[in-house]
Amino acid sequence: MKIGVVGCAGRMGQMLVREIAATPGCTVAGGTERVGGPAVGKDIGLVAGIEALGVAVVDDPAVLFAEADAVIDFTSPEATERHAALAAQSETALIIGTTGIGPAQQASIAAAATHTPIIQAPNMSVGVNLLLALVEKVAGTLGEDYDIEIVEMHHRHKVDAPSGTALGLGRAAAAGRGVALDDVKQAVRDGHTGPRPRGEIGFATLRGGDVVGDHTVVFATDGERIELTHKASSRQVFAKGAVRAALWAADKQPGLYSMRDVLGL
Ligand code: NAD
Repeated sequence: MKIGVVGCAGRMGQMLVREIAATPGCTVAGGTERVGGPAVGKDIGLVAGIEALGVAVVDDPAVLFAEADAVIDFTSPEATERHAALAAQSETALIIGTTGIGPAQQASIAAAATHTPIIQAPNMSVGVNLLLALVEKVAGTLGEDYDIEIVEMHHRHKVDAPSGTALGLGRAAAAGRGVALDDVKQAVRDGHTGPRPRGEIGFATLRGGDVVGDHTVVFATDGERIELTHKASSRQVFAKGAVRAALWAADKQPGLYSMRDVLGL
C-alpha cells in the first residue's frame, strides 16, 4: 500500500514517515509541506531522520493524492479541510488526526466522506479508544449522581484546548448519559462560578514541558471517586494507529469512520 503524509516535516509527520517505512507491505508514497516550508525539495526520509527514500517533499498536495492509495493528515484544521476536498476528488482514503476542527470544517469533511473513506480520530492510540468505550459504559452505569471532570495535560507547543481527546472523552461520557456534550460542557471556570450544576461535564487543561498526552476522567460522588487514566509516553502510538487505519481503509466503502470502527470496539 502506497501511503502519503501531508505535513510530513511536523512532529507527527516525521513519526508517520518512519512508521510507514518500517511497516511491511507499506511504502512512503510521498509527502507535502506548506509552500515555502524549509523541508520542500528535500528527501522525505532524511527529513524524517531515517535513510533517504528517493522521494522529495513537495508543496502541491494534488500530486500526492493522485499518487497515493491513502494519505495521512496531521496538519492544521484549514489544511485538513482542503485535503478532504482533494481526497474526495481523487477518491483516495484519508486518515485525519488533526484536532481543533471547527463545525464548518467538519461539515466539509463529512461531505468529502460521501466520495471516499475518511477515518477521523482526535486520538489514534488503541489505549485511548478503549478508554472511550469504557468511559461511555461507566458514565451510563453511574448516572448523574457522579460528577464528571476531565483533566488533560499536553506539551507547551499544543495550540488547541481542551485537547481533541479530552473533548472526545467528554462526548463519550455524554453519550453514555444520553445527552449532547454541547448542552452540559464547562470548558473554563474562573472567578465566582457558584456551585457545580448537576449533570455538568467539566474540563481542566494543563500545558507544559514535553508531555505527549495525559487524560484522566474523574467520576466523583459523595463518599467515592473513580478515575480512569491514560498516559501516552511516545507519539509512536498515534502513528501506529494511523497506519493501521490506512491499511483498514483499503477495502472500505466511502463513509466517515472512527478509530473505534478500525479497532472493532
Ligand atoms: P506540528 O506543528 O509539529 O506539525 C504540523 C505540520 O503540518 C507542520 O510541519 C506544518 O508545516 C504542516 N502543515 C501545515 N499546513 C500545511 C499545509 N497546508 N500543507 C502541508 N503541510 C502543512 O504539529 P503536530 O504536533 O505534528 O500536530 C499536528 C496535528 O495533529 C495537531 O492538530 C495535533 O493536535 C494533532 N495530533 C493528533 C493526534 C491523534 O492521535 N489524532 C496525535 C498527536 C497530534
